[in-house]
Amino acid sequence: MKYCYRLVFFLLSFFVGGCSTSLNNFKTHFYDYQHVTTALDSLTEKRASLVDVYSIGQSHEGRKITAIKITKKSNPARNKPGILALFAEHAGEHETTSLAMGIVQYLVDNGQINDRISSLLEKTELWIVPMMNPDGVDYDLSGAPEPFSWRKNRRPTETATYGVDLNRNWGYHLEIKPPEKIEKCYSRKDSPNYAGDKPFSEPETQAVRDLLLAHQNIKILLDYHSGSAGFMQGAVGCATGRGTRKGIHPSIDAFCNGFIDSFAERVTDPHDTRPGFLVMSNEGAADIMRQRVPFYIKPFVPSKFFEEPGTSINYTYDQLNMAAIGIELFRGSSFFKNLPGSQRILIENQVRGILLLLDIIAKKYGYLDAT
Ligand SMILES: [Zn+2]
Repeated sequence: MKYCYRLVFFLLSFFVGGCSTSLNNFKTHFYDYQHVTTALDSLTEKRASLVDVYSIGQSHEGRKITAIKITKKSNPARNKPGILALFAEHAGEHETTSLAMGIVQYLVDNGQINDRISSLLEKTELWIVPMMNPDGVDYDLSGAPEPFSWRKNRRPTETATYGVDLNRNWGYHLEIKPPEKIEKCYSRKDSPNYAGDKPFSEPETQAVRDLLLAHQNIKILLDYHSGSAGFMQGAVGCATGRGTRKGIHPSIDAFCNGFIDSFAERVTDPHDTRPGFLVMSNEGAADIMRQRVPFYIKPFVPSKFFEEPGTSINYTYDQLNMAAIGIELFRGSSFFKNLPGSQRILIENQVRGILLLLDIIAKKYGYLDAT
C-alpha cells in the first residue's frame, strides 16, 4: 500500500505519511461529523444574513454531505459568481475540516464589519463543503486503524476491504488505462487509491458533481488536502498547459495563470520553516518564491504529473471548464501544537487567498444574472 502512496505522490502528491499523535489529543483537536453539524446549526441561527447550509447528498452510512453558502443575502441577485472549496475528501486529513470551519467563522465574524469582505460577499458566493467524506472521517476518528491513516470512504465491498478513494472517483479519464503500476493502485479494492468500479460510483462524488452542475456560476474549485505539504495548481488548467493536455481550455489557462502566483504568495507563510513544495506557473515566479521562502518551500514549475485520472481538479478543469487548484496543508498534530498561532495564521492566509479569488471573479464575471 505504501508503494501506491509513493507512486501517487510523484504523480499528484496526496501523499499520506505516518503520525504518532495520541488518540486522545487527536480526537479532541479535530471535527467529527456531529461536531460540524452542531457548529453549523448554531452558526446559521446567528448569521442568517450571510450563511445558508444545504444537504447536498448522503454518504453510504447515511450521513449528510453538507454545503455552506456564504454571501450577503441583502443582495438577492441570483448567480453571483462563486468559488467552491472542498475539504476532507480524504478521511484522515482532518486539518482541512478545521480550516474550513475556521474560514467560515472568520468570514461570518468579519462579513458585516470589514468593508472589503462585506463588499466581496455582496457580489460573490463562497461555497464550502467542510467534510466531503464524513463516513471516512468518523471511522478514522474512531481510531481505526490509527489516527490519520484512513483515506477512502466506507463503501462496503464484496471482499473484506472497504472504501473508494474519492479523489480517484471523479469522471476524468478513468476510461483510459493508466500504466500498469498505477493501474494496480486504482483497481485493487484493498488499495488506498482504489478508484471504484466506475466514475462517480460514490454518493459523495456524485453530490459535489451535482452541486457544480446545478450552480454553473461557480467558476473556481479549491480542493484542500493535508496528505503532504504543498500547493498544486489545479490540473492542467493552472499548470499552464505543461501537461500532456496542453491547450484544452486556453481561456481558462490564461485566466488561471493571471492569478495563480498571487494566490500562492498570499496563502504561503514565509516564516514557516517546515519542508514543503509550491507549484508556480513559470520559472520567473518560482525564482521569486525561492527567495521569499527559502526554507519552507521548494517552488517548481509542474510537468505532466497533473494528468492523474479521477481527481476533482482534473475533472472540473477538463469537463466543467473551471479553474481548479489543489492545496496541500501541513499535516498532523503540529497543526495545533508547537506553533500556538499556526491555526490562526493558516486560516488568515487562506482567507487572504480566497478574498483575492473572490475579487477576481467579481471583476471578471460581474453579476451573471442580476435580477
Ligand atoms: Zn488528500
